[in-house]
Amino acid sequence: MSRRRVEVFSLPMSFRFRRVRHREGLLIWGEAGVGEFSPFVDYDADESATWLAAALEAADQGFPHPLRDRVPVNCTVPAVGPDQATAIATGPHGCRTAKVKVAEPGQRLDDDMARVGAVREALGRDGRVRIDANGGWTVEQAVDSIAHLAEFDLEYVEQPTATVEELAEVRRRVDVPIAADESIRRAADPIRVKRLAAADIAVLKVQPLGGVRVCLRLAEQIDLPVVVSSALESSVGISAGVALAAALPDLPFACGLATASMLAQDLAAEPMSPVDGHLAVRKVWPDDELLRDARPDEATATRWLDRMADCRRVLKDRAG
Ligand SMILES: [Mg+2]
Repeated sequence: MSRRRVEVFSLPMSFRFRRVRHREGLLIWGEAGVGEFSPFVDYDADESATWLAAALEAADQGFPHPLRDRVPVNCTVPAVGPDQATAIATGPHGCRTAKVKVAEPGQRLDDDMARVGAVREALGRDGRVRIDANGGWTVEQAVDSIAHLAEFDLEYVEQPTATVEELAEVRRRVDVPIAADESIRRAADPIRVKRLAAADIAVLKVQPLGGVRVCLRLAEQIDLPVVVSSALESSVGISAGVALAAALPDLPFACGLATASMLAQDLAAEPMSPVDGHLAVRKVWPDDELLRDARPDEATATRWLDRMADCRRVLKDRAG
């Protein structure tokens, strides 16, 4: 481990996310390729170790054989006004599916109605519109809001409420399919979503769940249609999500992997950007010049190398 190439990076974001303006992490080189390790800064070693397992898989094993050569992706519409929502939904990405953020703190149902309505109109009747509440509603708020927003013909509602029990209750009371995201990737037991009949769709993210192969096994166990999403990685990390989407036996929905543009700078000379609403399945190599540009100050670099070492110890303990 100590002798392999490792590069710490800090990339400016196009907008603020999780109270930060930079996306930090490191890349790890191995026999099979390059892996990205970029757990969010507030995650402890125990949670972050799972992210390291994903990075080591990419570096040392590479990815399973792909079953398709491109994967459909959605565009993402943040909690903006209707005009901006229209502009994003009809952007050059060519996506026919949009994920629209709802339940933003400080906003009202009227704001969600205006935004989701604008996106539905922009995409037309053949477009697909899904919404993501990031667990921001109570059960009653979710049931009421979904009843109103269903007017715009929703593909599904992602994580309407925070807990799995609440998801199950909302699912019993509305007709729109429910997708579980946070209830899977930050849960001690991701299969609980299935046992409690809390969701129709599972959102899987490679780094938070520990790798492409772990996700493939989980998809089999959970026995629900899967939507693969990113964890706001650079194009190196996104390529692992694309590898998962490419290896799934069934891929009925567009994936949330068109997030490279949320970074103002990337590590790949050719970022994972959608063409015609799809991402190509391919290996992504970082560009040395871009890596140099992304190199953080000494203290940040040391902090990340320490983080990686802590996570190595956690993984060692887990392996027994
Ligand atoms: Mg989500």
